[in-house]
Amino acid sequence: MSIIDLVRPNVRELQGYSSARMEADGGLVRLNANENPWAPPDERGLELNRYPDPQPAALVSAMADLYDVAADQVLATRGSDEAIDLLVRAFCEPRSGAIMECPPCFSMYRVAAGIQDAQVIQVSLDESWEPNVEALVDAHRPGANLLFLCSPNNPTGNALGLEVVRSLCDRMSGKCLVVVDEAYQEFSAKPSATTLLREFSNLAVLRTLSKAFGLAGIRCGALVASPLVVATLRKIMAPYPLPTPTTSAALSVLSGKSLEQTRQRVQTLVSARSGFAEQLRQCPAIEAVWAFEANFVLVRTASPGALVRACASVGILIRDVSSYPGLDGCVRITIGSPQENATLIDFLSASANLEKAS
Ligand SMILES: *Cc1c(COP(=O)(O)O)cnc(C)c1O
Repeated sequence: MSIIDLVRPNVRELQGYSSARMEADGGLVRLNANENPWAPPDERGLELNRYPDPQPAALVSAMADLYDVAADQVLATRGSDEAIDLLVRAFCEPRSGAIMECPPCFSMYRVAAGIQDAQVIQVSLDESWEPNVEALVDAHRPGANLLFLCSPNNPTGNALGLEVVRSLCDRMSGKCLVVVDEAYQEFSAKPSATTLLREFSNLAVLRTLSKAFGLAGIRCGALVASPLVVATLRKIMAPYPLPTPTTSAALSVLSGKSLEQTRQRVQTLVSARSGFAEQLRQCPAIEAVWAFEANFVLVRTASPGALVRACASVGILIRDVSSYPGLDGCVRITIGSPQENATLIDFLSASANLEKAS
């Protein structure tokens, strides 16, 4: 059995749109795409009057190097959000199809399933926030062609060991594509699931430049998977998904010097994590703190809504996640700059501020 057998039959048979840019590249006199011959003034040499390459070779190759895979295993996307959407549209039949997810987790998986009118099979994480492999295998049914895992998990922050991912890929072989969303992987000490792609064709890994690379504004990420999955998703993707300024900014952050600065900044955030958690533990309103392997921490408090509102009243934004299953009283706090972290700690340390929050 091929992983392509899990793709919706109409998508499997679909002939994707063939754009002018895909049919002919280069050229000296380009009269094939109804573009304007003149770029607007002040476009900084980006040739913005031209349609962009749908999958710029330089970007795909830089991402392949970054994630240590082959170029044909990489699909450059408009952030991982686009990859989630493409996966659901390619693998899940409306109504009869389903995704599987392990709450509490990122909410985009079920939003994408909802848009597709696919079902959502939920198998909660266990009390250590680890996936329950046996329960997932039992809950699987034909048509549930995607299993979303998130590592490090948003909003709990803990990362999966490779043995869990390996065991799920193995047990779900022929049944579903296991998707590991690694939006926060750079902040974790655990190895990436990309290292398992050699063993499993039913594995896809989502990466992004939005978090560790500081480029949430350009919308750029990657799906790393078997070349068959990459080729299938390309067929249903928008013809020109990557704006030229996005590719230009991504390439510049993936070049040598900038890459080193990114590593240092990630290191700075990771080093701040345990100290920040310790300071939060000292704050009167905070009952518990979990600081695992991402650029955020999770805290529990008696009145999460009041805490979030009290912070917002002085311009500090934190995220109420208390409505997530199993996360009663919880609030997610991003690790910011040393100054931003200190501003929050100062505010939370003052008991007068906290009375407002209780
Ligand atoms: C932030 C986040 C994303 C979205 O990433 P983009 O690349 O910006 O679309 C995906 N998954 C998780 C778990 C996230 O927290």
